[in-house]
Amino acid sequence: MSCYICGKEKESVEHAPPKSFFPKGKRNSLITVNSCKVHNQDTSLDDEYVRNIITMMIQGSSIAYDHFLTKSIKSFSRSPALLKSTTEKWHPVNYNGVDTKAIEIDRDRVDVVMRKIAYAVFYHKYSQRWLRKLITATTYLKIPNLENDDLGDMIEELQNKHTPAYEGNNPEAFQYAFMETDGNINNQILRMRFYEGFEIWMIPDGDEANEPELNTLY
Ligand SMILES: [Zn+2]
Repeated sequence: MSCYICGKEKESVEHAPPKSFFPKGKRNSLITVNSCKVHNQDTSLDDEYVRNIITMMIQGSSIAYDHFLTKSIKSFSRSPALLKSTTEKWHPVNYNGVDTKAIEIDRDRVDVVMRKIAYAVFYHKYSQRWLRKLITATTYLKIPNLENDDLGDMIEELQNKHTPAYEGNNPEAFQYAFMETDGNINNQILRMRFYEGFEIWMIPDGDEANEPELNTLY
């Protein structure tokens, strides 16, 4: 088996989602895929940034909260630069009548990490590469006036019509479900759910065969 992104010769093995997303004791049979030298570059700072954002967003979930208190706080104190880059852009906002603060999120960085996970999950499930570019959509990351972006509105409608059959060996940390569209596995939509709260949808960009692409498309 070859690299899950480019199909070139296997050099090493990657966890998807990254191991750091899983609290200790919630690491049963993690998904692993083969990757080449190029696609096994160390992205641990990006991974930690994204995990911290997710766990901060859904502190209602006790698993995510524990994980935030143990792991994310530790990673912040280990890396002052990571804390700075996570929280340096605060905006005062009024949300449901309450004055609070919103963090400006590096969406491109989130999207790259999510694409890596999505391509790996597909490869794990179907033993072939996902030959599409992927658009990310979520209702959890808002535009500056705290509303959904256009794709967020779209999936809010879709999710009322789709009952996902989630898969995943560590459901408290990560689950996923493919949503069939036209019978071609490459054209499916992938829902990924973290810590039983934060959900992001990975949507193929068009129906043309394309090489997987990690970087932000537009
Ligand atoms: Zn590769």
